[in-house]
Amino acid sequence: MRVVVNAATSADGKLSSKRREQIAISGPDDFDRMDALRAESDAVMVGVGTVLADDPHLTVEEPERQVARRERDASAHPARVVADSRARTPTDARILDDEATTYLLVSEAAPAERIEELEAAGARLVTAGDERVDLTSALASLEREGVERLMVEGGGELLFSLFEADLADELRLYVGSKLIGGRDAPTLADGEGFVEEFPELELEDVERVDDGVLLRYAVE
Ligand code: NAP
Repeated sequence: MRVVVNAATSADGKLSSKRREQIAISGPDDFDRMDALRAESDAVMVGVGTVLADDPHLTVEEPERQVARRERDASAHPARVVADSRARTPTDARILDDEATTYLLVSEAAPAERIEELEAAGARLVTAGDERVDLTSALASLEREGVERLMVEGGGELLFSLFEADLADELRLYVGSKLIGGRDAPTLADGEGFVEEFPELELEDVERVDDGVLLRYAVE
């Protein structure tokens, strides 16, 4: 499986404000680039923090890209994936509509009642890990379901775990020309933070997009 992390931060490295509300960091060209990347992916993943904060849809916007996907396989949109250890995703979340398949990665700690409700709402449940989702095992299960190209959009808690487990192959980071500030505002990689072995990135490309910069890194 190839895992591409795609995220947008402010110039000071924040994914959103301390209120954890979605902020427009990039512009139309970057949204279009992101839409193209979604269209090339078999699945798009976020953490449940992003579902609760933003209620994203995670589908492909551009109709021509949906048609092109249909021409090469069956679904107009990639599958949607949420890392959600305790099955906190609301049953009326936009990612649970009928537009695409949705996998919820849960742990053994997820209440059985919530699992039943979410299955009834159309989610496909994948259990991995005792208290928290074991990402290595969950991604292996997704691969068995045919997910070869996984795009991960955030947020900062999930991305830290993904880098910590050495699961990311590539990082595409848009850095916008805005300051957000706030010590409690989410950053690209939150979690516990690294103190000894820091993941190394190899800068492969730099491009001006809209009013910011797109950085493409390989994760070593
Ligand atoms: P997040 O990373 O989306 O989700 C974190 C949650 O995922 C955790 O609290 C945890 O909840 C669950 N999770 C399950 N397994 C995990 C694992 N192995 N490791 C880590 N987390 C795991 O939430 P966030 O860090 O609060 O980020 C949300 C913010 O990011 C929002 O403000 C959103 O707007 C912003 N965002 C920005 C961008 C961007 O590109 N600018 C993209 C996405 C999101 P459980 O313990 O309950 O499972």
